[in-house]
Amino acid sequence: MARTILSFIAFFALLAVSHASDWVLYSVGGRDYISMGNVADFYGLKKVQREGNEVIASSNSRSLRAAAGSVEFFINNLKFILSYPIVEHNGQLCISRMDLVKLVEPVMRPSRIKNSVPIDTVVLDAGHGGHDSGATSIYGAEKNYTLDTVLRAKELLRAAGYKVILTRSTDDFIPLDDRAAIASAQKSAIFISIHFNHGGMGTGVESYTLAPCGVPSMMADGPAVSDFRECRGNSRDQENMALATASHAALVMKTRMADRGLKRARFVVIRDITIPGVLIEGGFLSNPTDAKLIATSLYRQTLASSVLQAVENYRKAVGTQSAAVAETKKQPTKKPTQKSGSKPAPIDPPSSETN
Ligand SMILES: [Zn+2]
Repeated sequence: MARTILSFIAFFALLAVSHASDWVLYSVGGRDYISMGNVADFYGLKKVQREGNEVIASSNSRSLRAAAGSVEFFINNLKFILSYPIVEHNGQLCISRMDLVKLVEPVMRPSRIKNSVPIDTVVLDAGHGGHDSGATSIYGAEKNYTLDTVLRAKELLRAAGYKVILTRSTDDFIPLDDRAAIASAQKSAIFISIHFNHGGMGTGVESYTLAPCGVPSMMADGPAVSDFRECRGNSRDQENMALATASHAALVMKTRMADRGLKRARFVVIRDITIPGVLIEGGFLSNPTDAKLIATSLYRQTLASSVLQAVENYRKAVGTQSAAVAETKKQPTKKPTQKSGSKPAPIDPPSSETN
């Protein structure tokens, strides 16, 4: 069944309302979890329905959807991939505190992200180049499609008044570290890297943002010691998620491709940068239908327009510092309730942790 994703401005604006409530934490397998009922209450989603394996919390046009044992999590029908599966505890579906803090909170209340920098510059990164062709289809190479998309996006962004920096503007090989350095040299900027996927008969679009410290990369086989190393990009965890949400929603809505979700990874170009960043995969070159589409200039122009939409959405969502401060004043803060078996709880916004 096709589900509608709200226009993106509405997506963030409608998510902005919430109220402070008491947090109750449950420890499951050594990790902190919060019930979906608790989360729904905090964000003012009054209707909470349990249907078999699934819980849907909604109010007006806002909704959260989760299923027991699944890492798929839907906010206004946009797909996010959680770092840890939803668990069932005492008959309630619960989300990890890590996912609540690092995913749900910046998506639901982007205007409350602390110290977010107003942006006027966009760093566009065309994946691969030179001797590194990336993935290929019978129609062409990823390196050429990414560059063409980036050049189209540059025109749209410049016309809209943004300063645009390209990590490459020709068919050259630029090392990943150099790309990250180019991004980090910019002030008041965000970073968007464009790629195309490959692998089996996979189809659709997906986006990646930096995994928070302590959680496994979804591109790795399992947990690694390096998961616990704080990366440069982790200083922007909240902005990364807000940007990736803005970008992924624009990508899904503009291309109308299958939504494979917003995922976590530690790719160098999103790991080693000091500005907010996202990496998008605009379809599968290994899939005949996707590949044919990617080979058309019309599709790449659509992708470019999704980049402009992403930037506009992000700017509106994060807003100005003064707007964020004004909203903070309206938000009362309550002390967390201490219940037996629960630890001191995160509150408004929930505090971070590394498990
Ligand atoms: Zn690639």
